[in-house]
This record gives sequence, structure tokens and C-alpha cells, in this order.
Amino acid sequence: MSNQNHGTLYLVATPIGNLSDISARALTTLREVDFIAAEDTRVTRRLLEHFGIKKPLVSYYKHNSRSGGEKVLTRLQGGESCALVSDAGTPGISDPGEDLVRLCALDEIKIITIPGPCAAVSALALSGLDSGRFVFEGFLSTDNKKRFALLEELKTEFRTMIFYEAPHKLIRTLTDLLNFFGERRISVSRELTKIYEETLRLTLSEAVLHFTSTPPRGEFVLIVEGAAASDDTGDRLDEGIRLASVLIEDGMSKRDAVKKAADETGCSRNALYKAVST
Ligand code: SAM
Repeated sequence: MSNQNHGTLYLVATPIGNLSDISARALTTLREVDFIAAEDTRVTRRLLEHFGIKKPLVSYYKHNSRSGGEKVLTRLQGGESCALVSDAGTPGISDPGEDLVRLCALDEIKIITIPGPCAAVSALALSGLDSGRFVFEGFLSTDNKKRFALLEELKTEFRTMIFYEAPHKLIRTLTDLLNFFGERRISVSRELTKIYEETLRLTLSEAVLHFTSTPPRGEFVLIVEGAAASDDTGDRLDEGIRLASVLIEDGMSKRDAVKKAADETGCSRNALYKAVST
């Protein structure tokens, strides 16, 4: 039960690129709260200016999350309402917010979500990979010991995996994923909702090759096929190879045979083309 005299904390999702993705409810909430706690006040000020909203801002970011959180909590306890926003997307998903929610929950502050964009969910929905069961991993650690221990653990993860990545670390991450997981399907989404939005559905080795020749730009989400699904992919590929070989023997061109066999078995056209060409 929340304390009636306390204010409410609103978790307000903001656009991940396209400002038109702000919801009507997000705008109303930003206009109506007493103050806004922002990851980067400069970024949020630009968003508020765009929508003609004037509101007091306080800073709440990773490195002040303890002291900043206490200050926000004190104001909420005093009856003020607060909107928490991050630089982009849903606050608390790989950005500050989680600690503030925990703090407020402990104090029985009412917490309301104003849902909206989240890069992970958008990329998963676009991937074409199994979205029935998935696991969110966020950013891989840059500390090799932690990074490799996690990748080792994830080798047998059967659910679809979601990773966030910055452009300058992308090739290293794709290479590590290939080294630990072997060949698997991956969907790479970049610059979602922006002008250069792109989703590439490849295998891990194709992704390494692609980004080695085309330098990565923008923000990335990687959706990686789980272990069980990749075994299944192996079975489907074997089936595809059998069918394509029969069609080629019957006189069909390699290109058409690969297309027909890939469509019928559901295996990757690229992987099948490579397999029947070797
Ligand atoms: N809270 C955010 C959300 O709900 O998606 C995520 C914040 S996290 C600090 C930033 C990372 O999210 C980026 O490095 C990138 O991996 C991903 N991301 C954010 N916006 C994106 C976009 N427009 N396209 C692709 N990835 C994006």
C-alpha cells in the first residue's frame, strides 16, 4: 500500500531517435509533474524545449544515483510528484532508474509506468528470431575476465539473447560472440526510428565480415539466436542442402534451387547457398 501523503514517481519512456514517438500520456505527465529527474539535463532540456514544456529539472545519473536518489525520495515523501526520464527509451533498462525504483518501492512510494520506446524490444520484434522466450543481457562487460565468463555461461543459453553495443566495440563483440557460440543467426539493428535505421539478418560470421568492410556507425542492438534454436538451424540447413541438391540434379539453377529449398525448409538462404557452393 502506498502512503497517500507521498507523491508519485512516474517512469516516463522517451523516444530513441524519432521525437514523434513520444506518447500523449508522456507529454501530459511531463507537463503535470512537479519536477523531472533526468539522466542528462541537457538532453532532456532539448526534448522539453521541442514540446514547449518548462519544468524544473534535477540530475539523476549513474554516478550520483545514491545522493540524487535520496534527494528525489525526500521530495516525493514531501508530496511532490516526479517524472524520471533517461536520455532515450525506457528508464531503468540499461540506464539509471533501477536504483531509484528500488529505493522508492522500499518506502512504499507509488510508482507508475508511462510506457513507450525501448530499443531492446523493438529490435527483438524486428529480428525474425524466436521472440517467445528471450533474455536481456544489455552491454557486455569490457573486463575480459567477466566478459568471457558470461559468454561461456551463455553458450548453452537456449533463449534468444539481446545485447546492446556501441559502434566502436561492435566488431570485437561480434567476433567474441562467434568465437564462443560458433555459427548462429543474428539480427543487427542500428539507428532504430532514425533516418538510417537498418536491420540486417545474418549469421555471426557474415556479421563480422560485413562490419569489417562497412565501419559500424550509430547505436546497435544485437539479437542472437539461442543454442537450441541454432541446433534446429543445423537440422534445417541439412534438410535444405538435401532438397537443393535434388532440385539441382533435376536441372534447376543453383540460385532457384537455393531459394526454393530455403523457403520450404526455413533455413538461411545465405548459409544454404554457401553450403551447396562448397
Ligand atoms: N533505456 C534505453 C532503452 O530503453 O532502450 C537504453 C539505454 S542504453 C544506455 C543505450 C543503448 O541502447 C545504445 O548503446 C544502443 O545499444 C541501444 N539503443 C538506444 N537507442 C537505439 C536506437 N535508436 N537504435 C539502436 N539501438 C539503440
